Amino acid sequence: MQEAIRIARNHMEAREEEHQEWEGLPSWKDWRWQLEHTIRDPETVEAILGVRFTDDERRVVTETIRRFPMAVTPYYLSLVDPEKWREDPILRQAFPHGDELKISRCDMTDPLCEDTDSPVPGITHRYPDRVLFHVSNVCAMYCRHCTRKRKVGDVDSVPSRMQIQKGLAYIRSHPEVRDVLLSGGDPLMLPDDTLDWLLGELRAIDHVEIIRIGSRIPVVLPYRITDGLIRVLSRHGVIWLNTHFNHPNEMTDSACRALERLALAGVVLGNQSVLLRGVNDCPRIMKSLVQRLVRNRVRPYYLYQCDLSEGLEHFRTPVGKGIEIMENLRGHTSGFAVPTYVIDAPGGGGKIPVMPNYLVSWSSDKVILRNYEGVITTYRMPEESGNTCDLDCANCRLQLDLDNPREFKAVGISMLLSDHQKDITLTPENLERVRRREVAQ
Ligand SMILES: *Cc1c(COP(=O)(O)O)cnc(C)c1O
Ligand code: SF4
Repeated sequence: MQEAIRIARNHMEAREEEHQEWEGLPSWKDWRWQLEHTIRDPETVEAILGVRFTDDERRVVTETIRRFPMAVTPYYLSLVDPEKWREDPILRQAFPHGDELKISRCDMTDPLCEDTDSPVPGITHRYPDRVLFHVSNVCAMYCRHCTRKRKVGDVDSVPSRMQIQKGLAYIRSHPEVRDVLLSGGDPLMLPDDTLDWLLGELRAIDHVEIIRIGSRIPVVLPYRITDGLIRVLSRHGVIWLNTHFNHPNEMTDSACRALERLALAGVVLGNQSVLLRGVNDCPRIMKSLVQRLVRNRVRPYYLYQCDLSEGLEHFRTPVGKGIEIMENLRGHTSGFAVPTYVIDAPGGGGKIPVMPNYLVSWSSDKVILRNYEGVITTYRMPEESGNTCDLDCANCRLQLDLDNPREFKAVGISMLLSDHQKDITLTPENLERVRRREVAQ
């Protein structure tokens, strides 16, 4: 371990200048070396970061590790900024926090009912046409915010080929399953030949049209994306891979190279982030993350509200923070850089999209919408489907006998909904877009 600490320290320090030299170290870039030197105790973290925990901190961390084990690759730990380690978004995702032992009133051990909705061990069948298939319980790193904390790191429940066989049998006998999502743990922790076998078995099932993999490997162990793995992944037709970047600091040269190799091998890349307090609960961080993802051929897919799993309370943000982030993305940057913000419904209801309200109001023949700039506009339905009003109450079939129908002057949104006024938008003053037009003229 001493050697590993030395290499990791050098790597971390070199990053600030030019780290080509350390990138060139054969052992550092060997994913097996990384896994053999997985960091599992606070003392090694201290040694690598060159920091000292207080006795109290060390005691709390040791206690937390007993309940939820710790595992970090030297690579991922080397991304921590030792100057600001206490606030570091990388360390927060990797290093135990005493708050994990606080069980809040609403915490649940299986908030998403992945076990209850499981017809055979390893399969969660929630949606009509697709299943989640847990094929591994090991991860290169144990994320502190993991929703499957209760399982990950539990060596006894590593699925055997036998168990995977049972899952495959279930999929074979359910022709409605056209999409299989390999998950875990991390499926890319399986040996190449097991993965090759599994993908081959799935591809051989006629009704399985889509195979996808959920993996954090490109983030925490990019060196695992070897030539061998690429060969396996490119041998079985179209594979979709959703990875899990949460912060722009994770998008290192090594990570981006791993993404490039996957993309060039034809793997379709997406990203799922979790909204985490103290890590990425900021519109600017999220915007920079999604833009970097897109630059690296990764389509932001979901932004998850943090689940109600045990010990995650300190990571949870108000839903309003997520909506604020979405408000700062939609319209402000490329449409395909905008993920869908979802709450995975407690009780197994599945993912529910949540977003700012763009539909402001509607009537039988119009909808009133607002855009990201605050412009309120009107969209007219194809056919008049309700009672249109020309303010001629005397001749209206609804027989309203008003003395002076003209006293009804619509304003604001009701004006947009009305049939007798011609305005179709409400526009805030001093819009940059409008000013640009004026300049252009
Ligand atoms: C997320 C999830 C899926 C996949 O959902 P998509 O919205 O299609 O990405 C499938 N099954 C389960 C149990 C899930 O949690
Ligand atoms: S990689 Fe995924 S499954 Fe593994 S610990 Fe992290 S969040 Fe959990």
